Amino acid sequence: MSGDGLDGPLDLVVRGGRVLDPASGIDARLDVGVRYGRVVALEPDLSALIAPAQAAYPPNLGTALIDATDRIVTPGFIDLHAHVYTGVCGLSVPADETSSRSGVTTVISAGDAGANTIEGFRRLTVQSSRTRVLAFLHVSNVGLAPWPAGESRDLDMLDVEAGIRAVRENPDIVLGVKVRMTEGSVVGDNGLEPLRRAVAIADATGLPLMMHIGFCPRPIGELLALLRPGDIVTHCFTGSSNTLVEDGHLAAAAHRARASGILFDVAHGFGSFDYRVADIAIGEGFWPDTISTDLHSLSAAEIVIDLPTTMSKFLCLGMPLEDVVDRVTARPAAVIGRGATLGSLAVGRIADMAVIDVEEREQRFVDSFGGTRTGTRAIRVAHTIRAGIPWFGPLPHPGRGVSVRPD
Ligand SMILES: [Zn+2]
Repeated sequence: MSGDGLDGPLDLVVRGGRVLDPASGIDARLDVGVRYGRVVALEPDLSALIAPAQAAYPPNLGTALIDATDRIVTPGFIDLHAHVYTGVCGLSVPADETSSRSGVTTVISAGDAGANTIEGFRRLTVQSSRTRVLAFLHVSNVGLAPWPAGESRDLDMLDVEAGIRAVRENPDIVLGVKVRMTEGSVVGDNGLEPLRRAVAIADATGLPLMMHIGFCPRPIGELLALLRPGDIVTHCFTGSSNTLVEDGHLAAAAHRARASGILFDVAHGFGSFDYRVADIAIGEGFWPDTISTDLHSLSAAEIVIDLPTTMSKFLCLGMPLEDVVDRVTARPAAVIGRGATLGSLAVGRIADMAVIDVEEREQRFVDSFGGTRTGTRAIRVAHTIRAGIPWFGPLPHPGRGVSVRPD
């Protein structure tokens, strides 16, 4: 499992942890060796490549070490749905503020920016965050507008040509197209037209669509019929009208959609995760494809808190740890078309990592609708490492500043 990293001292070694990397099938006790922001060695013992600190001038702090004994080392988490365009998109939270303590190294902005505001998003959020920030572009040219009026009530704001142009001008950060399909507050009485326009942009650019559901203007089957394989239904376990559950069962259209390759994402949120819906879905074998937060300033303060808390809720619902990790690493990386570069700790990959504990303790977990469950295990993040640089130290040797971003 070694690359070309065995020919000199390493910048960072994460020692002695259980490396759990669903993308590459690795589940073993290994040291992770990092140089120049990338994983260069995965070996049972990398002691020979650990350089001691030297007090001479110029100083050399040697190889930075993180002791992961009795801990689990995973690829950095990818949060597929969050809101991070602070200062422009209402309710956003700074990506670094929550990511730094929660194992998240990649955050996907779920439609905060539209064609008119994507350049500002690049300057204010992408370039100023240590967290990797990528985006689904909103079909509305103004981006997501949570207040005082929704973004898709005026169809003149949903200019398809402008959306196509914005996607093509920003291929490094735009992963797909976002639309919120909530009647009244978001789409007014425009019915399915915002969805049709979002599909038009996604079709023209060959990218996936992310569709927010909850209080949809039409029965869910009519919305799902417009999606294509690879498109994402976000807030999949929301409890409101015209969602995945019909008459106490999962809608037949939901099963058909999954069979056709449409994907289902949690996006817990302040008002979008209902244990009663999750129970019905899971009872029919319908686990989510990806686990995400829908983090914003309300949900970060309570109910959601962060991605590890959302992951812990799925442990509580009976999903094995390996599957939970898969749904915040390999799966979202594949969903966004970045499986070749993100979501894995294999040798040669960017050294984005989470070092976690799975604590055996009772914890009460709430949903967005007043439901509670008590779990016996909770994921706690000990270290978040972005491109080989741990948040809050220890820093690798001088010359390896926190601005290192090999991707
Ligand atoms: Zn959202």
